[in-house]
Amino acid sequence: MQTWSATTFPETPINAILNTVYREKGVEVDLKREDLIDADVSGNKFRKLKYNVLQAVEEEYTALLTYGGAFSNHIAATAKAGKLFGLKTIGVIRGEELGYDLKETLLNNPTLKFAHDCGMEFQFVTRSAYREKHLESFRESLKTKHGNFYEIPEGGTNALAIKGCAEILDELTANYDFIACSVGTGGTLAGIIEASLPHQKVLGFPALKGDFLEAEIRKYTSRTNWQLVTDYHFGGYAKTSSALIQFINTFKKEQDIQLDPIYTGKMMYGLTDLISNGYFSKNTRILAIHTGGLQGITGMNERLRKQGRSTINI
Ligand SMILES: *Cc1c(COP(=O)(O)O)cnc(C)c1O
Repeated sequence: MQTWSATTFPETPINAILNTVYREKGVEVDLKREDLIDADVSGNKFRKLKYNVLQAVEEEYTALLTYGGAFSNHIAATAKAGKLFGLKTIGVIRGEELGYDLKETLLNNPTLKFAHDCGMEFQFVTRSAYREKHLESFRESLKTKHGNFYEIPEGGTNALAIKGCAEILDELTANYDFIACSVGTGGTLAGIIEASLPHQKVLGFPALKGDFLEAEIRKYTSRTNWQLVTDYHFGGYAKTSSALIQFINTFKKEQDIQLDPIYTGKMMYGLTDLISNGYFSKNTRILAIHTGGLQGITGMNERLRKQGRSTINI
Protein backbone atom coordinates (compact mmCIF):
# COMPACT_ATOMS: atom_id res chain seq x y z
CA MET A 1 0.00 0.00 0.00
CA GLN A 2 1.40 3.38 -0.93
CA THR A 3 1.87 6.07 1.65
CA TRP A 4 -0.21 9.23 1.77
CA SER A 5 -0.10 12.03 -0.74
CA ALA A 6 -1.06 15.63 -0.04
CA THR A 7 -4.78 15.12 -0.07
CA THR A 8 -5.62 11.43 -0.12
CA PHE A 9 -4.95 8.31 1.84
CA PRO A 10 -5.23 4.85 0.38
CA GLU A 11 -8.54 3.18 1.18
CA THR A 12 -7.86 0.96 4.19
CA PRO A 13 -9.23 -2.59 4.05
CA ILE A 14 -11.72 -4.04 6.52
CA ASN A 15 -10.87 -7.56 7.73
CA ALA A 16 -13.29 -9.98 9.36
CA ILE A 17 -11.95 -11.26 12.70
CA LEU A 18 -13.04 -14.83 13.28
CA ASN A 19 -12.69 -16.56 16.60
CA THR A 20 -14.68 -18.93 18.77
CA VAL A 21 -15.69 -16.32 21.38
CA TYR A 22 -17.23 -14.00 18.80
CA ARG A 23 -18.94 -16.91 17.03
CA GLU A 24 -20.39 -18.32 20.26
CA LYS A 25 -21.85 -14.92 21.15
CA GLY A 26 -23.19 -14.41 17.63
CA VAL A 27 -21.31 -11.11 17.29
CA GLU A 28 -19.52 -9.93 14.17
CA VAL A 29 -16.21 -8.12 14.57
CA ASP A 30 -14.39 -6.46 11.70
CA LEU A 31 -11.13 -4.54 11.90
CA LYS A 32 -10.44 -1.45 9.80
CA ARG A 33 -6.76 -1.52 8.99
CA GLU A 34 -5.61 2.06 9.48
CA ASP A 35 -2.28 0.52 10.44
CA LEU A 36 -1.72 -0.16 6.75
CA ILE A 37 -1.66 3.55 5.83
CA ASP A 38 2.05 3.56 6.57
CA ALA A 39 4.61 0.94 7.50
CA ASP A 40 6.28 3.09 10.14
CA VAL A 41 3.67 5.43 11.43
CA SER A 42 0.28 5.10 13.17
CA GLY A 43 -2.51 5.63 10.67
CA ASN A 44 -4.49 7.85 13.00
CA LYS A 45 -1.48 10.11 13.52
CA PHE A 46 -1.29 10.75 9.79
CA ARG A 47 -5.04 11.41 9.73
CA LYS A 48 -4.54 13.93 12.54
CA LEU A 49 -1.67 15.61 10.74
CA LYS A 50 -3.26 15.80 7.29
CA TYR A 51 -5.16 19.08 7.56
CA ASN A 52 -2.52 20.56 9.85
CA VAL A 53 0.20 19.96 7.28
CA LEU A 54 -1.98 21.34 4.50
CA GLN A 55 -2.68 24.40 6.65
CA ALA A 56 1.02 24.87 7.40
CA VAL A 57 1.88 24.68 3.69
CA GLU A 58 -0.98 27.04 2.81
CA GLU A 59 0.26 29.56 5.38
CA GLU A 60 3.80 29.16 4.01
CA TYR A 61 5.36 27.85 7.16
CA THR A 62 8.61 25.99 6.58
CA ALA A 63 8.74 24.11 9.88
CA LEU A 64 6.49 22.00 12.10
CA LEU A 65 7.14 21.89 15.83
CA THR A 66 5.56 19.45 18.23
CA TYR A 67 6.00 17.71 21.57
CA GLY A 68 6.23 14.15 22.80
CA GLY A 69 7.75 11.47 24.96
CA ALA A 70 10.72 9.40 23.86
CA PHE A 71 8.63 6.62 22.28
CA SER A 72 5.82 8.78 20.91
CA ASN A 73 3.95 7.61 17.81
CA HIS A 74 3.06 11.24 17.19
CA ILE A 75 6.73 12.28 17.12
CA ALA A 76 7.48 9.54 14.56
CA ALA A 77 4.48 10.58 12.46
CA THR A 78 5.32 14.29 12.49
CA ALA A 79 8.91 13.55 11.49
CA LYS A 80 7.79 11.47 8.53
CA ALA A 81 5.07 13.93 7.48
CA GLY A 82 7.66 16.71 7.48
CA LYS A 83 9.95 14.62 5.34
CA LEU A 84 7.14 13.83 2.87
CA PHE A 85 6.12 17.47 2.57
CA GLY A 86 9.56 19.03 2.63
CA LEU A 87 8.98 20.76 5.95
CA LYS A 88 11.57 21.03 8.67
CA THR A 89 10.45 19.30 11.87
CA ILE A 90 11.38 20.06 15.46
CA GLY A 91 10.52 17.64 18.25
CA VAL A 92 10.48 18.94 21.82
CA ILE A 93 11.15 15.74 23.74
CA ARG A 94 10.50 15.04 27.43
CA GLY A 95 13.73 14.04 29.22
CA GLU A 96 16.79 16.27 29.01
CA GLU A 97 19.08 13.32 29.82
CA LEU A 98 18.31 11.90 26.37
CA GLY A 99 20.20 14.83 24.88
CA TYR A 100 23.45 14.28 26.81
CA ASP A 101 24.68 11.72 24.32
CA LEU A 102 22.48 11.78 21.24
CA LYS A 103 24.38 8.99 19.51
CA GLU A 104 23.83 6.67 22.44
CA THR A 105 20.16 7.71 22.70
CA LEU A 106 19.58 6.94 19.03
CA LEU A 107 21.19 3.53 19.42
CA ASN A 108 18.78 2.69 22.22
CA ASN A 109 15.61 4.32 21.00
CA PRO A 110 14.11 3.17 17.69
CA THR A 111 11.44 5.92 17.72
CA LEU A 112 13.91 8.77 18.04
CA LYS A 113 16.25 7.01 15.59
CA PHE A 114 13.41 6.89 13.05
CA ALA A 115 12.48 10.54 13.62
CA HIS A 116 16.13 11.58 13.39
CA ASP A 117 16.54 9.67 10.13
CA CYS A 118 13.50 11.56 8.79
CA GLY A 119 15.38 14.78 9.55
CA MET A 120 13.72 15.83 12.79
CA GLU A 121 15.69 18.13 15.06
CA PHE A 122 15.30 17.50 18.76
CA GLN A 123 15.17 19.75 21.74
CA PHE A 124 15.35 17.67 24.89
CA VAL A 125 13.83 19.37 27.93
CA THR A 126 13.49 18.57 31.61
CA ARG A 127 10.25 17.05 32.82
CA SER A 128 9.37 20.25 34.66
CA ALA A 129 10.00 22.41 31.57
CA TYR A 130 7.93 19.93 29.57
CA ARG A 131 5.02 20.28 31.98
CA GLU A 132 5.20 24.06 31.51
CA LYS A 133 5.40 23.95 27.74
CA HIS A 134 2.11 25.82 27.36
CA LEU A 135 3.68 28.97 28.86
CA GLU A 136 4.17 31.82 26.43
CA SER A 137 7.73 32.35 27.73
CA PHE A 138 8.63 28.79 26.73
CA ARG A 139 7.16 29.23 23.25
CA GLU A 140 9.12 32.46 22.86
CA SER A 141 12.34 30.66 23.76
CA LEU A 142 11.52 28.02 21.14
CA LYS A 143 11.01 30.73 18.52
CA THR A 144 14.30 32.35 19.41
CA LYS A 145 16.03 29.03 19.00
CA HIS A 146 14.26 27.56 15.96
CA GLY A 147 12.66 30.49 14.12
CA ASN A 148 8.99 30.59 13.23
CA PHE A 149 7.06 27.32 13.19
CA TYR A 150 3.60 25.79 12.82
CA GLU A 151 2.87 24.35 16.24
CA ILE A 152 1.08 21.04 16.71
CA PRO A 153 0.14 20.03 20.27
CA GLU A 154 1.42 16.92 22.04
CA GLY A 155 -0.47 13.92 20.69
CA GLY A 156 -1.56 15.99 17.69
CA THR A 157 -5.10 16.75 18.80
CA ASN A 158 -6.69 20.00 17.62
CA ALA A 159 -9.72 20.94 15.52
CA LEU A 160 -7.97 20.11 12.23
CA ALA A 161 -6.96 16.71 13.62
CA ILE A 162 -10.60 15.94 14.41
CA LYS A 163 -11.52 16.84 10.83
CA GLY A 164 -8.87 14.40 9.55
CA CYS A 165 -9.99 11.58 11.85
CA ALA A 166 -13.61 11.98 10.76
CA GLU A 167 -12.42 10.55 7.44
CA ILE A 168 -11.77 7.17 9.10
CA LEU A 169 -15.49 6.47 8.62
CA ASP A 170 -17.11 6.39 5.19
CA GLU A 171 -19.95 4.71 3.29
CA LEU A 172 -18.37 1.27 3.85
CA THR A 173 -18.66 1.67 7.64
CA ALA A 174 -22.31 2.81 7.65
CA ASN A 175 -23.84 -0.56 8.53
CA TYR A 176 -22.00 -1.24 11.78
CA ASP A 177 -23.83 -0.92 15.10
CA PHE A 178 -20.73 -0.14 17.16
CA ILE A 179 -17.39 1.49 16.34
CA ALA A 180 -14.55 0.72 18.77
CA CYS A 181 -11.35 2.73 18.99
CA SER A 182 -8.42 3.21 21.34
CA VAL A 183 -8.12 6.55 23.15
CA GLY A 184 -5.03 8.56 24.11
CA THR A 185 -5.89 12.24 23.95
CA GLY A 186 -9.35 11.50 22.57
CA GLY A 187 -8.88 13.35 19.28
CA THR A 188 -9.24 10.28 17.10
CA LEU A 189 -12.37 9.21 18.94
CA ALA A 190 -13.88 12.70 18.64
CA GLY A 191 -13.39 12.60 14.87
CA ILE A 192 -15.02 9.19 14.67
CA ILE A 193 -17.92 10.35 16.83
CA GLU A 194 -18.45 13.37 14.58
CA ALA A 195 -18.55 11.12 11.52
CA SER A 196 -20.71 8.41 13.06
CA LEU A 197 -24.34 7.89 12.09
CA PRO A 198 -27.21 8.33 14.56
CA HIS A 199 -27.84 4.57 14.76
CA GLN A 200 -24.20 3.88 15.63
CA LYS A 201 -22.62 3.85 19.07
CA VAL A 202 -18.94 4.71 19.46
CA LEU A 203 -16.93 2.98 22.20
CA GLY A 204 -13.60 4.46 23.27
CA PHE A 205 -11.06 2.36 25.16
CA PRO A 206 -8.67 4.67 27.04
CA ALA A 207 -5.07 3.46 27.06
CA LEU A 208 -4.42 5.41 30.26
CA LYS A 209 -6.10 6.41 33.48
CA GLY A 210 -7.80 9.59 32.39
CA ASP A 211 -10.69 11.10 34.29
CA PHE A 212 -10.21 14.21 32.17
CA LEU A 213 -10.84 12.39 28.89
CA GLU A 214 -14.60 12.65 28.77
CA ALA A 215 -14.50 16.43 29.18
CA GLU A 216 -11.68 16.63 26.65
CA ILE A 217 -13.71 14.76 24.03
CA ARG A 218 -16.76 16.94 24.71
CA LYS A 219 -14.69 19.96 23.68
CA TYR A 220 -14.70 18.58 20.14
CA THR A 221 -18.15 17.04 19.79
CA SER A 222 -21.64 17.68 21.09
CA ARG A 223 -22.88 14.27 19.94
CA THR A 224 -23.91 11.84 22.69
CA ASN A 225 -23.81 8.43 20.95
CA TRP A 226 -20.55 7.41 22.58
CA GLN A 227 -19.09 6.04 25.77
CA LEU A 228 -15.67 5.41 27.29
CA VAL A 229 -14.89 1.89 28.52
CA THR A 230 -12.37 2.63 31.26
CA ASP A 231 -11.55 -0.84 32.57
CA TYR A 232 -8.77 -1.77 30.15
CA HIS A 233 -5.89 0.66 30.65
CA PHE A 234 -3.82 -2.08 32.39
CA GLY A 235 -2.55 0.27 35.09
CA GLY A 236 -1.86 3.30 32.92
CA TYR A 237 -0.14 4.60 29.84
CA ALA A 238 2.42 2.14 28.42
CA LYS A 239 1.77 -0.24 31.31
CA THR A 240 1.28 -3.87 30.29
CA SER A 241 0.53 -7.23 31.85
CA SER A 242 1.51 -10.74 30.79
CA ALA A 243 -2.16 -11.39 29.96
CA LEU A 244 -2.08 -8.46 27.53
CA ILE A 245 1.18 -9.57 25.89
CA GLN A 246 -0.20 -13.09 25.57
CA PHE A 247 -3.42 -11.78 24.02
CA ILE A 248 -1.43 -9.81 21.43
CA ASN A 249 0.70 -12.86 20.59
CA THR A 250 -2.33 -15.14 20.26
CA PHE A 251 -4.15 -12.59 18.12
CA LYS A 252 -1.11 -12.43 15.83
CA LYS A 253 -0.97 -16.19 15.54
CA GLU A 254 -4.68 -16.64 14.89
CA GLN A 255 -5.41 -13.60 12.73
CA ASP A 256 -1.99 -12.80 11.29
CA ILE A 257 -2.51 -9.21 12.41
CA GLN A 258 -0.05 -7.37 14.64
CA LEU A 259 -1.47 -5.32 17.51
CA ASP A 260 0.56 -2.87 19.61
CA PRO A 261 0.80 -3.04 23.42
CA ILE A 262 0.02 0.61 24.13
CA TYR A 263 -3.21 1.20 22.22
CA THR A 264 -4.72 -1.38 19.88
CA GLY A 265 -3.84 -4.43 22.00
CA LYS A 266 -5.68 -2.94 24.98
CA MET A 267 -8.69 -2.04 22.84
CA MET A 268 -9.00 -5.50 21.27
CA TYR A 269 -8.46 -7.15 24.65
CA GLY A 270 -11.20 -4.99 26.16
CA LEU A 271 -13.58 -5.50 23.26
CA THR A 272 -13.08 -9.26 23.36
CA ASP A 273 -13.64 -9.27 27.10
CA LEU A 274 -16.88 -7.29 26.73
CA ILE A 275 -18.06 -9.73 24.08
CA SER A 276 -17.30 -12.79 26.20
CA ASN A 277 -19.15 -11.16 29.12
CA GLY A 278 -22.25 -10.86 26.94
CA TYR A 279 -22.16 -7.05 26.65
CA PHE A 280 -23.47 -7.11 23.06
CA SER A 281 -26.68 -8.73 21.89
CA LYS A 282 -26.69 -11.39 19.20
CA ASN A 283 -26.13 -10.22 15.62
CA THR A 284 -24.43 -7.00 16.70
CA ARG A 285 -21.97 -5.75 14.08
CA ILE A 286 -18.85 -4.13 15.51
CA LEU A 287 -16.15 -2.27 13.62
CA ALA A 288 -12.88 -1.93 15.54
CA ILE A 289 -10.29 0.55 14.29
CA HIS A 290 -6.69 -0.63 14.07
CA THR A 291 -5.01 2.74 14.55
CA GLY A 292 -1.46 1.38 14.15
CA GLY A 293 1.25 2.04 16.74
CA LEU A 294 3.47 -0.76 15.52
CA GLN A 295 6.63 1.36 15.50
CA GLY A 296 6.48 1.34 19.31
CA ILE A 297 6.80 -2.43 19.68
CA THR A 298 10.58 -2.65 19.35
CA GLY A 299 11.09 -0.09 22.09
CA MET A 300 8.53 -1.80 24.32
CA ASN A 301 10.17 -5.19 23.78
CA GLU A 302 13.53 -3.79 24.85
CA ARG A 303 11.96 -2.56 28.08
CA LEU A 304 10.17 -5.89 28.65
CA ARG A 305 13.38 -7.82 28.04
CA LYS A 306 15.25 -5.69 30.58
CA GLN A 307 12.54 -6.52 33.13
CA GLY A 308 12.90 -10.23 32.31
CA ARG A 309 9.32 -10.39 31.04
CA SER A 310 7.93 -12.10 27.97
CA THR A 311 7.93 -10.04 24.81
CA ILE A 312 5.69 -9.36 21.83
CA ASN A 313 6.22 -11.63 18.84
CA ILE A 314 6.86 -9.64 15.68
C1 LIG B 1 -2.08 8.09 19.39
C2 LIG B 1 -2.71 6.79 19.16
C3 LIG B 1 -4.03 6.52 19.58
C4 LIG B 1 -4.84 7.51 20.35
O1 LIG B 1 -5.19 8.64 19.58
P1 LIG B 1 -5.78 9.92 20.28
O2 LIG B 1 -6.29 10.73 19.16
O3 LIG B 1 -4.64 10.60 20.98
O4 LIG B 1 -6.82 9.50 21.24
C5 LIG B 1 -4.56 5.28 19.30
N1 LIG B 1 -3.85 4.35 18.66
C6 LIG B 1 -2.59 4.58 18.24
C7 LIG B 1 -1.87 3.49 17.56
C8 LIG B 1 -1.98 5.80 18.46
O5 LIG B 1 -0.72 6.00 18.05
